[in-house]
Amino acid sequence: MIAGNGRLKIAIQKSGRLTDESVELLRKCGFDFEFQRHGLYSPCRNFDIDLLALRDDDIPEYVQDGVADLGIVGENLVRERNAKVKHLTRLGYGHCKLIISVPAKSKVTTLEKLKDKRIATTYPVTLKHFLRTNKMKADIVELSGAVELAPALDVADAICDIVSTGTTLRVNGLKPLTTVLESQAVLISNPTSYGGEKKRELIERLMIRISGCLQARGKRYMMMNAPAASIERLKKILPSLKSPTIVPLAEKDMIALHTVVGEDEFWDLMEKLKKNGARDIVVVPIETIIT
Ligand code: AMP
Repeated sequence: MIAGNGRLKIAIQKSGRLTDESVELLRKCGFDFEFQRHGLYSPCRNFDIDLLALRDDDIPEYVQDGVADLGIVGENLVRERNAKVKHLTRLGYGHCKLIISVPAKSKVTTLEKLKDKRIATTYPVTLKHFLRTNKMKADIVELSGAVELAPALDVADAICDIVSTGTTLRVNGLKPLTTVLESQAVLISNPTSYGGEKKRELIERLMIRISGCLQARGKRYMMMNAPAASIERLKKILPSLKSPTIVPLAEKDMIALHTVVGEDEFWDLMEKLKKNGARDIVVVPIETIIT
């Protein structure tokens, strides 16, 4: 029996946009497993955790009901299902927006102009909440897919759908009007699993690993040698987690300087550092940062 074996259960999307990055994140946390995309259950060899591969629409309810202790799913689905779960952390991938869009030629330019018009969506709960918050009345046309076709079929005057790049909107002659929700993958937990002693400890250990991976994302470790006389100039150029590490080298009046930099800034930094005396600059990836 998988249920009740005392091991932590984490639900991830069986196959879809979040699957690969969720598997990669758990591997980076040091969990050793073979992901069974077509089976329900992938046990982890070196940690008391089992992966459950589920349809992502079901994950919020399964975590709420305790079938899984944890889940990785889009924030959009957690909201839409109104699930009573605890949000542990955002995971920085699976970014998308729930957007109300209208035909490119439509005269509707503001949300107010959609009053009493028809909006098609697969997100009726979130849309209803949004309209209520904005004191707007409109007819919600609930569909189960292909929402972008609704205006062309005269089923609706606008749509409320998930957008990441905007290509689907453009291809279907639609333009964005307003953003209802910004979403990304989140780690959620069942509130009572968190109460049990053994599972609480496992979740805390997992959280330290996940935070370490999230902190390291987009960062590089930079090492360089330089004349001791250039330290102050180099320190001014370098950002760092706290302060750069500076160690003397065997060669007289030379130092080695180590620091952490963002991957978007290291090329610019490298040029400035070189101009200010740094040599033998080495940049390596970081697996994790535990602060
Ligand atoms: P899917 O694999 O299409 O079922 O998408 C799974 C999740 O990925 C969604 O629930 C969203 O949280 C997220 N996502 C990111 N970009 C998109 C997109 N363009 N369309 C749908 N979902 C997206």
